[in-house]
Amino acid sequence: MTQTTHPSHQRSCGWNAWLPERKVRPALSGRSEVDVVIIGAGYTGFAAATAWRQARPEDRIKILEADRVGEGSPGRNSGFMLEIALANDARPQELERMGKLNAVSRRTMALLRERVERLGIDCQLKHSGTYRAAKSAVGQRALKQYESFLEAAGLSYQTLNGDQLAERIGTNYYAQGIYSPDCYLVQPAALIVGLADSMDAGIELHENSPAIQIVPDGRRWRVITPEGEVVTGRVILANNAFSRAFGADPSRLTAIYTYAAITEPLAEPERQRIAAATWGLLPAHRLGCTLRTTADGRLMIRSRYSYEREADNARIENQLKASLEARYPELTPVRFDKVWGGTTGLTYNGAPLWGEIQPGLYVSAGCNGGGIVKGTFLGDALARHALGQPVEDIASLFGKASWMPPDPIRRFGFYLTSEVERRKAKHET
Ligand SMILES: Cc1cc2nc3c(=O)[nH]c(=O)nc-3n(C[C@H](O)[C@H](O)[C@H](O)COP(=O)(O)OP(=O)(O)OC[C@H]3O[C@@H](n4cnc5c(N)ncnc54)[C@H](O)[C@@H]3O)c2cc1C
Repeated sequence: MTQTTHPSHQRSCGWNAWLPERKVRPALSGRSEVDVVIIGAGYTGFAAATAWRQARPEDRIKILEADRVGEGSPGRNSGFMLEIALANDARPQELERMGKLNAVSRRTMALLRERVERLGIDCQLKHSGTYRAAKSAVGQRALKQYESFLEAAGLSYQTLNGDQLAERIGTNYYAQGIYSPDCYLVQPAALIVGLADSMDAGIELHENSPAIQIVPDGRRWRVITPEGEVVTGRVILANNAFSRAFGADPSRLTAIYTYAAITEPLAEPERQRIAAATWGLLPAHRLGCTLRTTADGRLMIRSRYSYEREADNARIENQLKASLEARYPELTPVRFDKVWGGTTGLTYNGAPLWGEIQPGLYVSAGCNGGGIVKGTFLGDALARHALGQPVEDIASLFGKASWMPPDPIRRFGFYLTSEVERRKAKHET
């Protein structure tokens, strides 16, 4: 199968639409030579560039970004920054590894928070904690499993019955919930734009510059964009599932699309009851809905998945409306201000695809829906690895991305599993 080199989305990114105009960096043009090219201005790419710059301030570094920063994948997410591993399915025998992952996540989150404060990035970063909630028996079983993980890992949490949850999030839809303090919420487009615009002047960023080909050039690499090319000793693929077009193993990485919608600011009584505080809720069941409020009193929902291609956004919009109206019937008919899709890289066992894939060609991809913090850690580690510095043992921390069968079996498996799980957990979606 020919791999698509970069994403293109049906609708623009809601979070980005609310940001002030900014100066877009010029596209790559002509021919140039640098020491390292980073493909993708996401959390992984910026972390790699920052680490490289710190280690080798004299090196010439270019980041190529297919879209405008803020409009692309990193600005499209729900803005949950977990200080602990995303461990819905953690098994007791994995506790030691999860404990190490939790420590890494906490350290990386502290680093990101320090960066946001030091650089004065206005991205509504808030230590809000996060809820998990369930309505059905299937959801409650998943919640119980998560509680066992938190308990065994010695992490603090609070269990909530339906009424207690309703008091905090303004809906009595859920039967049970758990509150965990280990999470921040952020306006993701503001964060990624802030990281781009406060980047060290020695790092050259080119927006609207998709890499469309990466070819060997003796012992170096030639990275080609529609209007330019750059020759370099090292390339870091930080473009998630689209790295498959340039050599990342397609049998271990797949592109999944998921969808978000944000309401208009709620009317005053609803705002007081639902969105007076900044809160976020992650689903107990993996196919469930994410919910959160925004600083200006809106409600966001994220749900539904599609395999390798963006589904029709108009159809998804209706499904998201139905899910939100089920939780907040008083908002019917829900009026969304913005609805959009975004892509993320998925591996079967949740481990990233990480390391050198050919001499001078490196990849970090497959953050499995939790890439703000994880991508930052892995991008930083990958740059240090490419520079020959000692790094954490990524395989023992995260495992190695496992093999998946090719299409059409993979596609069939995705839709079959989704359908079975969706039926089992239909009140969670
Ligand atoms: C709707 C939605 C909600 C999500 N919610 C959360 C959440 O709450 N918390 C969380 O941590 N994660 C969440 N995720 C996942 C998260 O967005 C990703 O894990 C994270 O963005 C991965 O970061 P990254 O830098 O590795 O890759 P990406 O964010 O995908 O960045 C890759 C960049 O590379 C660019 N690119 C791609 N191909 C090329 C090319 N050929 N040339 C140049 N540039 C290229 C892309 O435009 C993009 O800017 C969500 C994802 C979606 C879609």
